[in-house]
Amino acid sequence: MNLFGQKDKKPSMVMGNEKIYPMTYGGAQVEGISRDAVLNPFDLSVVGYSSVASLDQLDDAVRCARKAFESWSTRPDSQRAEACLKIAKVFEDNAQELSRLITQEQGKPLNAGGFGSGFEVGGCIGWCRATSILKIDDKKILDADGVTVIQKSVPMGVIGSITPWNWPLLIAVWHFIPAIRTGNTVIIKPSPLTPLSTLRAVELINEVLPPGVLNVVPGGAEIGAAISSHADIDKVVFTGSTATGRRVMASASENITPCSLELGGNDAAIVLPGAPVAAMAPGLFFGKFINAGQTCGSIQRLYVHESDYEAVCSALVELAKTTNVGDGLLPDTDLGPVQNKAQFEKVREMVGDAIKQGAQLLVGGESIGEGYALTPAILSHCTHDMEIVAKEQFGPALPIVKYSSIDQAIAMANSTDSGLCASVWGTDPDLLQSVSDRLIAGTVYINTHAELNPMVPFGGVKQSGIGVLFGEDGLKSFVNTKILYQRSVG
Ligand code: NAD
Repeated sequence: MNLFGQKDKKPSMVMGNEKIYPMTYGGAQVEGISRDAVLNPFDLSVVGYSSVASLDQLDDAVRCARKAFESWSTRPDSQRAEACLKIAKVFEDNAQELSRLITQEQGKPLNAGGFGSGFEVGGCIGWCRATSILKIDDKKILDADGVTVIQKSVPMGVIGSITPWNWPLLIAVWHFIPAIRTGNTVIIKPSPLTPLSTLRAVELINEVLPPGVLNVVPGGAEIGAAISSHADIDKVVFTGSTATGRRVMASASENITPCSLELGGNDAAIVLPGAPVAAMAPGLFFGKFINAGQTCGSIQRLYVHESDYEAVCSALVELAKTTNVGDGLLPDTDLGPVQNKAQFEKVREMVGDAIKQGAQLLVGGESIGEGYALTPAILSHCTHDMEIVAKEQFGPALPIVKYSSIDQAIAMANSTDSGLCASVWGTDPDLLQSVSDRLIAGTVYINTHAELNPMVPFGGVKQSGIGVLFGEDGLKSFVNTKILYQRSVG
């Protein structure tokens, strides 16, 4: 049995010669107190072994990051911008190795029509470059009656980053690059399900950064909890489920440690009456099934007006039928597996329960291969009392709900505790505008979904999170405000 309880399906190739990935802190590679096998979710073969850190090693890493902070925080801004570009180059030079590792441990295909692991590493490069040109300037906010007040943005200290398994390397970059750019040092704890790409990337990046600026300490919930309650960590940035986010927030409260929380979503998409179905179907399909439905800001439930319901269902079924699910290392694979057993079972149970409650499975839902691959499931006749609609499935299954009035669709879309993203699809500009105004979410898309840009702030409302990443507002999440209040003498 490995760390994740995957004991009933045996790894197919325990060769004994897979690579062991050490952690990196203080600029050095360090072996953990134990090792865990990381499995390829398509065929359950062993990809490699992750070191697992002890709590003492976490403390050592925090000390290294604290020490590095002393000089990193005083470096000129231009040097920190330059460092972001050097990191981009590391990703560029090692793109092939890192993409392959992501595909092997996470499952997403190398290519997937341009949205696979190559795209993930490309995103890392893009985010590093974009963040290099972002900057928060000091502001003179008062200059009157002998008083000058300057508002400065100063680094916070050591940032603790806890990441999930769905876009493992890109999300690590979303955490560490704005932190480093603003003069902080970082400890990353990757998901124990997908630690290898982060372990390897941090090892490579340490060749271009001073020791202790970027550190990685792998482990499970125990290390995560120790990070969020650590007295010498100045801020926690967490991306993961709402349930874990709640725990992170509670344990961070011990030291009043500020948190950015990027949590689960249950994104609604509304197709307005008369929408051009054939033209929009590929966007809806992609907006749901990118990364096999394992993207926080992807469509989780689709609301379609009764006049177009059959046409939308048929168009999506046709797309599902031509989607090639399988081994991400093969060039013609469009969708990879669900990443882990718990998620695989959750999606299958949700689909099964929905069918028992009256949903119709139009296509998909079949398990492929030795591991956790599932064909994309399209379900019609879904209703709000079904868990597959009410809760985030985070997998390749799309429930489609029929509505008869716009007010009803908006009420259903806004009816959950989540508020990450939502979208509205159609051609009437006034209606698109008024529906988007009424949807409650951090991002509302019109005629698209699941698009991100490093210059555009992203974050959830309600139980989907606190704070934003990306853009200048995202950068502000990694600084403290320091006021310089000066009265002139004489
Ligand atoms: P998860 O909450 O299970 O795990 C996330 C991380 O938290 C992992 O590194 C895990 O080891 C760690 N962890 C577990 N217990 C902890 C504890 N008690 N204290 C501190 N850390 C702990 O999430 P997951 O299953 O890895 O990821 C899927 C979820 O992430 C989905 O809900 C998805 O919507 C969400 N997500 C959100 C965003 C966003 O930007 N809002 C992006 C990606 C994923």
